[in-house]
Amino acid sequence: MLDHVSIFSQSGAVLWSRSLCKLRGNPVDALVKTVLLEERTGRKEFNYDAYQMRWTLENKLNLVLVVVYQKVLQLLYVDELLERLKNEVVAQFQDEILTRTPIAFDENFDRILRDVESNYMKSKRSINNPPALSSKKIGAARADTNSDATSKAIEDSENSAASADELDRLKHELKLVGPSKQAKPMRTGPRPSKFKKESKKSADTKTNAKKPALSYDIKTKISQKDIEKYDRSKALDEVEEQAMLDAKRRENIGDDTMSDNEDEASESEQSSSDAGSSWSFGQTRLGDFLQKVSGNKVLAREDLAPVLDQFRQTLMSKNVASEVAEELCESVMTTMIGKHLESFTRIQTVVQKALETALLRILTPKKSTDVLREVLAAREAGRCYSIVFVGVNGVGKSTTLSKVCYYLKSRGVKVMIAACDTFRSGAVEQLNQHCKVLDVPLFERGYAKDPAAVAREAIAHGNENGFDCVLIDTAGRMQNNEPLMRALAKLVSVNNPDLVLFVGEALVGNDGIDQLSLFDRALVDYSDRQDPRRIDGIVITKFDTIDDKVGAAVSMVYKTGQPIMFVGTGQKYTNLTKLNIKTVLRSLLS
Ligand code: GDP
Repeated sequence: MLDHVSIFSQSGAVLWSRSLCKLRGNPVDALVKTVLLEERTGRKEFNYDAYQMRWTLENKLNLVLVVVYQKVLQLLYVDELLERLKNEVVAQFQDEILTRTPIAFDENFDRILRDVESNYMKSKRSINNPPALSSKKIGAARADTNSDATSKAIEDSENSAASADELDRLKHELKLVGPSKQAKPMRTGPRPSKFKKESKKSADTKTNAKKPALSYDIKTKISQKDIEKYDRSKALDEVEEQAMLDAKRRENIGDDTMSDNEDEASESEQSSSDAGSSWSFGQTRLGDFLQKVSGNKVLAREDLAPVLDQFRQTLMSKNVASEVAEELCESVMTTMIGKHLESFTRIQTVVQKALETALLRILTPKKSTDVLREVLAAREAGRCYSIVFVGVNGVGKSTTLSKVCYYLKSRGVKVMIAACDTFRSGAVEQLNQHCKVLDVPLFERGYAKDPAAVAREAIAHGNENGFDCVLIDTAGRMQNNEPLMRALAKLVSVNNPDLVLFVGEALVGNDGIDQLSLFDRALVDYSDRQDPRRIDGIVITKFDTIDDKVGAAVSMVYKTGQPIMFVGTGQKYTNLTKLNIKTVLRSLLS
């Protein structure tokens, strides 16, 4: 059922792996690149080709466990399997994990897999066919006048999801049992609700029936002193209150209130509290404070959640799309649970640091963003480099194209522009204005032509006439207009340009992310290539208008995994820069 299981350190050393089938491609590699290195570990699963993957992290030992299986199989035991494998590895191979030495895990794996699979099959069977109580069992319960046996049979029956009829029959059995037996407290543990109510009711009835016994007690005139002596209610209240306080403390401080070398202090504290004093250093405000900052703590979801929630709000207030902020914080959460707080560190500080690292990792380009170098390399190879600009009308697409033209031309590149927005009237003339100002030629075939054909001609013209680069303008299609998106996908798939740039505004929040995703999706869905071209890079415009609300940069990169090639910072051709990641991080987390 499983295809592959891998256990490796977060630094990449594989400790153990098993392929149960031959894998197509390298799904684990894709998981590492797309999920683990891109702060998407908060997700539950990841699909790659026909595979689905689930994983778990052990953050104290920096371990990753991954299970790969066919996506068509809905394997419901994978999470349990991962947990069991993780517990076993951590319990038995700490030294190997720390020294990143391969482990002999085959037998452990086989045993755990067998166990988990058979548990799963059993539970599946019992859900499908709840074990009907055999007549023998019911007979035994009937014969036994001890109501415990009957109630046990009922409980078994309820636990195994027996039918309502069966329950009714058993409850009837119970009524046949003599009242004196029934009055016995049947069990102390919790019981499924419906029957619990009924049995309580019957017990209450019995208690009422026993009222004379109570009046008898009163008649015996137990002294006030004795009543006080035997009255446990006050003591119980105190016990309950203490338990409640302990629970609250655990919630706010954590279980791990003492470090190992403080065991002695722990013992003496224990004895002092045994001696009747409820005071302990850990319970003082100072103790509480030190507890939170001094590294005694293993981070749990409850500790991280409120802090990450604040950061999520901050990110959203800086215009990071809500789904991206959420996923990012969940990912940071996943990588931090189980880690030790270092000495004198606040949770707030470590979370901020982790988030900063995550954002830095996201924004750091994974490939070259040096368009000029690429263009010059193409020139060296004797061909014309082509860039297609896509994006919605009004975001600054033709202005950006002109800025890129200016940038390249002023660095000695021979550029031409192709007018492939053959749909919107006025688009060709508008572009021509830019060309005149920039003093570069415009390749155009007017309106109502197939934009893919115009682009092909333009690229051919560029190659034949010694141009180094052709910049292709496209119609600012509304992203949900299918025929127009098909035409755009055709332009890209037929001409296979060197670079497909998505131009998007920095002002947009969630909307901009939808636009980007739909463009990217359309390029894939409407492509007739086996390996469809997608968006290769992003230009964010109007960065000069957003103050510190720089979140769109994060959202767009996070959504596509593609880098920001340029940033538009004004209406002039010179207002084009590279993204300053440090400034973005400062703006996001301030
Ligand atoms: P298109 O319809 O996408 O081609 O958009 P245009 O290139 O015509 O630009 C629309 C408007 O946005 C124009 O007024 C541009 O001057 C303006 N614009 C484009 N880029 C920027 C930028 O980076 N900053 C600012 N402030 N305005 C910009």
